[in-house]
Amino acid sequence: MSDDVDIPESRDYRHLACRSVTTISGQPFEVMSNPLSDMARTWCSQCESFFPLSEYEWVDTNEAVLAYYARHGAKATPLHRFLCSRKNMIIMASIGFVAGGVGGYFLFRGNELRLKLLMVPFCGGLGTFGGLAVYISVLCEPITRSVCGVKDTRVLR
Ligand SMILES: [Zn+2]
Repeated sequence: MSDDVDIPESRDYRHLACRSVTTISGQPFEVMSNPLSDMARTWCSQCESFFPLSEYEWVDTNEAVLAYYARHGAKATPLHRFLCSRKNMIIMASIGFVAGGVGGYFLFRGNELRLKLLMVPFCGGLGTFGGLAVYISVLCEPITRSVCGVKDTRVLR
């Protein structure tokens, strides 16, 4: 797919209070680059502490991180934001766990207790993965795509 090319691995941001630069990469960068994430604070390597996102700007564009969020997240509705939030991720994982556990209970209800005690939590775990998969592929990715116009928010500037 054409929008899969040239995804940056990292980006630098500046902590306004101390003017020093921290590089973010990997999964934290994916989260921070997404204007729909409900990330509240990030790390300053100079101060060796977390500060609210309002205290940072991107080094390459000199744009405040919150201004970047406002610009790229302008099309998001409150429902979009809720569906992509960490809170909803936990809700989806919990629903998956319960559904998996209930499914496992009925699936193995004729079996001996030992097997049930093993398989019910196991199916709950599978359900948790299922719930998270739905959260990512059915909610977060399509919503991010429609709001930000890109599949991977790390390409946003
Ligand atoms: Zn700092």
